[in-house]
Amino acid sequence: MMNQSLQGIGMTSRRTRERMVNRLIEQGIRNRKVLDVMRDLPRHIFVDEALASRAYEDNPLPIGYNQTISQPYIVARMTELLLKQGNLTKVLEIGTGCGYQTAILAQFAEHVYTVERILPLQRKAKEHLWDLKIKNVSFIHNDGGWGWPEYAPFDGVLVSAAPPEIPEPLLEQMAVGGMMVIPIGKPGSQELQRVTRTVNGYEIEEFEAVSFVPFLPGRE
Ligand code: SAH
Repeated sequence: MMNQSLQGIGMTSRRTRERMVNRLIEQGIRNRKVLDVMRDLPRHIFVDEALASRAYEDNPLPIGYNQTISQPYIVARMTELLLKQGNLTKVLEIGTGCGYQTAILAQFAEHVYTVERILPLQRKAKEHLWDLKIKNVSFIHNDGGWGWPEYAPFDGVLVSAAPPEIPEPLLEQMAVGGMMVIPIGKPGSQELQRVTRTVNGYEIEEFEAVSFVPFLPGRE
């Protein structure tokens, strides 16, 4: 599964990533494939050089424009929740940011469609994925509240900014049997939810409290 090209890059910090993965296991991450991908994927190339040495700590880090790269545990947890039924065909990601979560999703999906509202962040993410030779990703600069209707339906949707409630278009663009993992709520009181679309409607499961940047309207 793991892209050959990912294996050569960033070998120097493989031991650091091994420690990160051991911590993820202690924190309860069980999906072996998620752990393998996070062990192989260099996280430090997604942050500014000045922060590279801190890339494997279990914290979010600034990526500019008031945004953050999600902490390793959250990335692992959301991916694990989304992969409940195994690999995915088409995944919609809202909030590309630096592209780290995107690169991980690209290892489990045939194609990832990722939406970011801040153009310079989208540009950086494109560069990072290009450097890693990850090609099964399409990018769009837009307000993710609209989803990406041209490519719907999606069997997986992952949202990495928190809206007060689930945007209707995202629900509409889910395939029957598809799943969405999304943080919901105001700053200070958000929780992770997993929505499954059934023949009759939507089922919602609630998971742990989380802390995401807010889901904002419009484009910058
Ligand atoms: N997974 C990313 C998380 C970045 S933080 C990473 O690990 O780097 C969340 C991102 O969501 C930010 O880049 C922010 O600009 C973006 N975002 C917030 N609201 C959005 C919206 N309505 N549409 C698209 N992107 C949005």
